[in-house]
Amino acid sequence: MTDFGALFIQFQDHLAPRLDVYEQSIYLFIARHTIAVGQSEATIGFKSARKKIATGIGTAGAPPSENTIYEKLKSLEAKGCIKVLSSERTGTRVRFFSPLEIPGVIPVAAPDAGLSLEQMDFFTVAENRKLILEREGQRCFYCHVNLNSENHVIEHVVSRPVGNNSYLNLVASCRQCNNRKSAETAEDFLRTLYREGLLSPEDFKGRLSHLERLRAGELRPVLK
Ligand SMILES: [Zn+2]
Repeated sequence: MTDFGALFIQFQDHLAPRLDVYEQSIYLFIARHTIAVGQSEATIGFKSARKKIATGIGTAGAPPSENTIYEKLKSLEAKGCIKVLSSERTGTRVRFFSPLEIPGVIPVAAPDAGLSLEQMDFFTVAENRKLILEREGQRCFYCHVNLNSENHVIEHVVSRPVGNNSYLNLVASCRQCNNRKSAETAEDFLRTLYREGLLSPEDFKGRLSHLERLRAGELRPVLK
């Protein structure tokens, strides 16, 4: 499963500015038929699919022509966004690459990039997200279940737009806690887990003090 919030932000903030509007539309359409349904490849019949992708920008109201689609598939491939694998009876077989997999799209914030730790983005920068998971000891910040690189999400303690992407406002969390917490405060959510018996009284206290330490800037990720 993919963390779609993160994927979408990576797309919009870093990849979209490098693509023209047709490329963006086609890229998102391919995403819909690959990564959104747990696949890395799909066969798409663009001859008919083009009518579902976008309304034309050349001739008002008309969908992109087949030629335009094939041109844009080529330019998307040249930009590393997809790979055209083969041409089949039912359509074109393509492989989708997420923004993280496209070299040079997502900037890697190095400690020497002139940013202080507080200014560094630990949400959109892939390498930095890993550091948050490591800081949590590969466990959910809330319920303490074990996490790995596949099953975790990076969670805003205070939701955006109020909360930012600094390490003071980000934790690694399991999907369930991420979904359930929603807009609740972290304290209220921990209390909910405690009431439901998912946290012992000691764990509950421990998690609350952990939260205080996070806010106080004591839980600093270790830069490589
Ligand atoms: Zn959890």
